[in-house]
Amino acid sequence: MDDLGLLIDFHKDAARQGPGGEEETRLALSLSGLINQKGLRIADIGCGTGSSAILLAEALGTEVIAVDFLETFLSELELRAKAAGVSDRISTLTASMDALPFEPLSLDAIWSEGAIYNIGFEAGIRDWRGFLRPGGILAVSELTWLTDKRPAELSEYWTNAYPEVATAAEKMALLEKHGYMPLGYFPLPRYCWIKNYYQPMKERFTLFLERHNHSEDAQALVNAERYEIDLYERYSDYVSYGFYIARAVG
Ligand code: SAH
Repeated sequence: MDDLGLLIDFHKDAARQGPGGEEETRLALSLSGLINQKGLRIADIGCGTGSSAILLAEALGTEVIAVDFLETFLSELELRAKAAGVSDRISTLTASMDALPFEPLSLDAIWSEGAIYNIGFEAGIRDWRGFLRPGGILAVSELTWLTDKRPAELSEYWTNAYPEVATAAEKMALLEKHGYMPLGYFPLPRYCWIKNYYQPMKERFTLFLERHNHSEDAQALVNAERYEIDLYERYSDYVSYGFYIARAVG
């Protein structure tokens, strides 16, 4: 199995494919001002198996287009949406986030949790801006330094894995530069990583390794995750995902 196949197999049974939480999605929603608006058209980009897309459809009672480039995740999402009783409000779209097939100014909101890093925060907010109607909402979570200074080991790891990692002030400045008015920011609390993401992940390690006969590649993936978890546990004061809520201006 190739690397992507292994990653899909590793993540497809999870409720979420990145750090996050229901309460945090709801907090972002309340900062967005979308609640109580009717007839919205929202895209959840890099939706994975649907943790936020399903909650948005439930909370807003509105149309959500769930976008991911992996069909395996979208099929899982469809099952989950059915179980949650919201399949009539969710449509899935297999597309890459750097080539979205939306009409200009056609969306009321773009949601994206733990996914924009795949094309980079700045390219993402710049390119997606054109799909939002004036006054439309962007709500994204993005890897963020929580403090001005940080331990070298942590800095080295994340700067290498994601060169755009930066402070909230720097991310806000990018939002302003690209035509958004920041409405809110908050960092995801520690449990969004440990309880909601890493703990369920750890519980999948053994079966995953067995499914792949402890292949070198499978073992390497698990070891890399173990290192990332260890790093997060030691340095959670310095790094998290920041949730950014902003409005398209003009
Ligand atoms: N939002 C979900 C998933 C986050 S993981 C959650 O919070 O649980 C990142 C997601 O982005 C994965 O589902 C992955 O398949 C998707 N992804 C990665 N690169 C992508 C691309 N170029 N286009 C669309 N989706 C992409």
